[in-house]
Amino acid sequence: MAVILDGKTLAEQFRREIKAQFENERERVGRLPFLTAMQVGDNLPSTVYIRAKERACAEAGFGFKHLRLPEDTTMDQLKQAVREVNQDSTVTGMLVQSPLPGHLDELEVQKMVAPEKDVDCFHPENVGLLYIGKPRFQPCTAQAIIELLLHYGFDPAGKRVVIIGRSVIVGRPLALMMMLKGRGGDATVTVAHSRTPNLAELVRQADIVIPAVGVPELVRGSWVKEGAVVVDVGINRLPDSNQKKGYRLVGDVAFAEVEPRVAAIAPVPGGVGPMTVAILCANLLKASGYHLPVWSKQS
Ligand code: NAD
Repeated sequence: MAVILDGKTLAEQFRREIKAQFENERERVGRLPFLTAMQVGDNLPSTVYIRAKERACAEAGFGFKHLRLPEDTTMDQLKQAVREVNQDSTVTGMLVQSPLPGHLDELEVQKMVAPEKDVDCFHPENVGLLYIGKPRFQPCTAQAIIELLLHYGFDPAGKRVVIIGRSVIVGRPLALMMMLKGRGGDATVTVAHSRTPNLAELVRQADIVIPAVGVPELVRGSWVKEGAVVVDVGINRLPDSNQKKGYRLVGDVAFAEVEPRVAAIAPVPGGVGPMTVAILCANLLKASGYHLPVWSKQS
């Protein structure tokens, strides 16, 4: 039976360690970590994600504000809102929840966020620092995946990793981070995408497979090598009238087929998602002048 990479439990541990670090250093730093999450419109998944971030901040004792702007907010109005948060010295971290409505330019907005408050690590300056191996912040989902692997003893160093997906949010920074020298890196990385031929064949060569695509159950049991490690990043909502919410979450991996073949697998839900929020809290701690905890090993 595969080891389940339990991101929910590990995220709880990370959040406890973040809270302890905050309490230990609070007097020295003299600053409350405070996150402003900006949302334009009322995309339901975005609201759910922001609520999870709000809960995590509240639990750690951090300040939090959910700044909601209407769907028809103009680019000028959004830029003005970002400017105001940048100038507010009580706010130590901010994010603009994606996706934005189609009439707004995400990159233009990300470029407006003060780099030292950019806890999502989307500002070009922070992306550049990551690229040269001197990161200010860690891209949350990519670091979540790496921490999950390391914690369970699946160090990517020297391993053949296949990442499926090349997005700016997940696939691209993850490929870079796993390729770089050092903790969580030193892997041999291949990035597959929508134009990759013979995807199943490529995936079969991987020691570690990380699908970040958004296609329910794309990765089948026959695609993965026996004993591989699989980290499912996909979050797909499938309509389900048996669920109170009217939908259920599935990943990019056909879990029932893949789990019996592999050494370890991160499930959806309960894998990468909760860890992503924990890393966001760690970035907020850092943005507020605190040291990061040295994550304790599995107990
Ligand atoms: P995206 O749509 O920006 O990128 C998807 C990528 O998949 C693209 O690079 C595309 O080339 C590739 N792709 C599409 N169809 C493919 C196919 N058939 N074969 C191979 N590659 C294909 O998406 P994203 O923002 O990177 O998100 C990907 C998934 O991860 C989504 O389900 C999203 O909800 C989830 N996600 C989860 C977290 C988390 O914290 N757990 C965070 C971000 C995204």
